[in-house]
Amino acid sequence: MTDYTKPARVRVAPSPTGHMHLGTARTALYDYLLAKKTGGKFILRIEDTDIKRTIPGAEQEIMDGLRWLGLNYDEGPDVGGPFGPYRQTERREIYQQHAKMLVDKGHAYPCFCTPDRLEKMRQEQQKRKEAPHYDGLCRRLSPDEAARRVASGEKYVIRFKMPKEGSTTAHDVLRGDIVIENKNIDDYVILKSDGLPTYHLAAMVDDHLMQITHVFRGSEWLGTFPLHVNIVRAFGWDEPEWVHLSVFLKPSGKGKMSKREAADAIKDGHSIFIKDMQDLGFIPEGLLNWMVLMGWGVSDGDVLTLNDMIEKFDLEHLNPSPAAINFTKLDHFNGTHIRLLPDPELAARIKPYFVKAGYSVKDDVLMKLTPLVKERIVTLDDAVDMAGFFFKENVDPKPEELIAKGLTPAQSAEAARQALAVLNGVNPLTVHAAEPPMRELVEKMGLSAGQVFGILRVAVTGQKVSPPLFESMEIIGREKVLARIRKAIEMLEAMK
Ligand code: GLU
Repeated sequence: MTDYTKPARVRVAPSPTGHMHLGTARTALYDYLLAKKTGGKFILRIEDTDIKRTIPGAEQEIMDGLRWLGLNYDEGPDVGGPFGPYRQTERREIYQQHAKMLVDKGHAYPCFCTPDRLEKMRQEQQKRKEAPHYDGLCRRLSPDEAARRVASGEKYVIRFKMPKEGSTTAHDVLRGDIVIENKNIDDYVILKSDGLPTYHLAAMVDDHLMQITHVFRGSEWLGTFPLHVNIVRAFGWDEPEWVHLSVFLKPSGKGKMSKREAADAIKDGHSIFIKDMQDLGFIPEGLLNWMVLMGWGVSDGDVLTLNDMIEKFDLEHLNPSPAAINFTKLDHFNGTHIRLLPDPELAARIKPYFVKAGYSVKDDVLMKLTPLVKERIVTLDDAVDMAGFFFKENVDPKPEELIAKGLTPAQSAEAARQALAVLNGVNPLTVHAAEPPMRELVEKMGLSAGQVFGILRVAVTGQKVSPPLFESMEIIGREKVLARIRKAIEMLEAMK
């Protein structure tokens, strides 16, 4: 059982090799929850030792993404901390010293095999239908011979010397003991010829030096998990608690999402990248609620704030089974959390989307339209489609949309004329003053509210879907409303 009274030290350790995705964000969220629950620390470490794959801007995107989500880290490259530096390329010497420590203890060895030789070896193994593995040529060199070749300036990597006998038992909090025969684990490279470490060494060294108590990471690391515990044990260190999180599957549940499918999701208003989510109008509260439940066994429909999550979080209830990405649920949680925001807060959050769409936003109008869209939007940018017309001087209805269902243009024009006559007599034009006589009129004409209000909605807002009609009229103002209805009547009359 996890002791929640002991401050945990947890880290998220992304590689800056692409856009920050859902998996990184969820790991960070679980880290954050455990840190907050135990009064511990949440750390950001940038694992940038694969220099060829590093993408400029990716690190900044990770830092911005975490802050946007509200997952502020206590230690990290840009905030510092007592265990820095927090960027692995700034810790080269530390890894080199540790690789040497393993060599000195007989747990690792320099390997001088050329890429050419390794490639030939790989091809032969393939022909023999063997799993690719290092054949151990340099493992058999005497330490003196190896030291002589290193001193002579020959190029080398350092490999971890996996025990060939016996088995390794590695313990995962969610999956229990995992036992694997040592002979099935390769002698992995832990330090490359450029002097930079691979993940296997760097992460183990850093987790130890940074006093990490719990390692949350993706289950893609399960394959090399026994290697990692062997490295930690070879140093003689205590192991952290290991928690390999569930993988995400594509919405169909069949396999992982490909790059192409991830790109396609965007057309549908969804994404697996945090940056896109922000642009698409998702709010951190909705996203966090959705993410936290992907792999956590609290009741599925739970609406949770970050504080609720901290309170309820329980490591033992995380679910190791793969989780299918369900964007419908994301929409649900996003809409739900939008409705939980106070109006001024929601107004402030939708404003940038109007600005981005090119509207000059009047704050008093924004404040009035906010409660009208609040009940109806799923993402923040929906507010623009629904209510952008409030900031337009003129609207531009499509003539055919002015024709009510079941009516001719002439009949629609007549309905609009009668509505205009009633509204002309309502001054000031408020919801309370306008709605009752308009409903009476609809009844008198023997038409449905949908038909008559539909014509007026298109006339006044320029669109078929809008916030409630009379509330909208009140915000637009009497003169404009009447002028727009007059114009619509003319358009209908001009139709044959
Ligand atoms: N840099 C690794 C990755 O991005 C981190 C894995 C871990 O959290 O240990 O997959």
